[in-house]
This record gives sequence, structure tokens and C-alpha cells, in this order.
Amino acid sequence: MATVKIHPLVDQGVKQGTPNFAGGTLTCHCARDPVTVRIGSNVAFNHACGCTKCWKPAGAQFSLVGVVPRDKVTVTANAQKLKVVDASATIQRHACSGCGVHMYGRIENKSHPFYGLDFIHVELSKESGWEAPEFAAFVSSIIESGAKPEQMGAVRARLKELHLEPYDCLSPALMDLIATHTAKAKGVLAA
Ligand SMILES: [Zn+2]
Ligand SMILES: [Zn+2]
Repeated sequence: MATVKIHPLVDQGVKQGTPNFAGGTLTCHCARDPVTVRIGSNVAFNHACGCTKCWKPAGAQFSLVGVVPRDKVTVTANAQKLKVVDASATIQRHACSGCGVHMYGRIENKSHPFYGLDFIHVELSKESGWEAPEFAAFVSSIIESGAKPEQMGAVRARLKELHLEPYDCLSPALMDLIATHTAKAKGVLAA
């Protein structure tokens, strides 16, 4: 079972974060003139994601991605290298045009449940203490990236062993946030 690779940062076990950790600096993979992004808070809802859109390190089946308030995200060097991967996507991923690493993903639709939160990959930071990944989202989607359907039982078993509860959409807490937002927008719940 240990041969099932999820992501280099969790394959040896999930490292717990430090309470009150206050953020750090993300750096892209360019050897020269890297893009740097200062994050002024800890990450929340950090998780492994199996979707095909998130940036993953080479060989990883999952990305590790979490959210921070967008006002805590500041590009601090080489902003001119950033390009939006797909301007029509809900999450606009700002990637380095030199190395391809996604530095942050931003939602510009103000009525989206996650508007105000940017998506980041804390593995791009040298600091340790970031909140640990808590679950795995969009697990079945790794099949779209080439995982064999018959491997999925072993992948889910390994995720459970790592205490990264596997879900095929988002976690219940995040699905509840989305539904609450939609219910308020429809007037079913008081805003
Ligand atoms: Zn780069
Ligand atoms: Zn994803």
C-alpha cells in the first residue's frame, strides 16, 4: 500500500501545522528571477485535490491546495512573468510563464461562494508550520489524468491511512458552505 504515491509532501506521512502560523513566501521554480508571492496568513481548508486543473509537482497524482483571503496575497517579485492559465475558468490560475508553476488562483465572480479566497500551494514556501492537509477532494478525477480505475481502491485506502478522507467532490464542510451561499442567494435561508 505504501507504493501508492499521492504527493511528495504527504507520502511519508502528513506533517502537522503550527498553531498561530502567520504565513510565508511562495517562490516559483525558476532558477533566475523567480516570481515570489507573500502570504500574510495561514492557509485554510488545505487538502489534496485530484482535479485536472490544479498545478501538481512532476509525478504527483494529487495537488495540495488551500485557501487564504485574497487581501493577504501580494506578488512581491517578477509579477510580469505571471499569466492567467484560462481566463474563462471559475478559478483564474496565475501561473509563472517561465516554469509553469501556479502561484495563486483567484475567483473574480463576486457572487461565487468562494469569492474573496485565493487558492495557493504552500509547498512553494520554505517556511514550515502551514496548516496540514485535512482531506482529499475530487479523488475520482485522477482517472482523467491517467490513473487506472482499478487502482482507485488502493488510492482511497492510502488516503484513509494518511487521514486524508477521500471525497469525490469537496469535503462536507465546503459543500455545506456552497449550499448555504446558494440558499441565501435564493432566499431559502435568511442572509
Ligand atoms: Zn517561474
Ligand atoms: Zn484541483
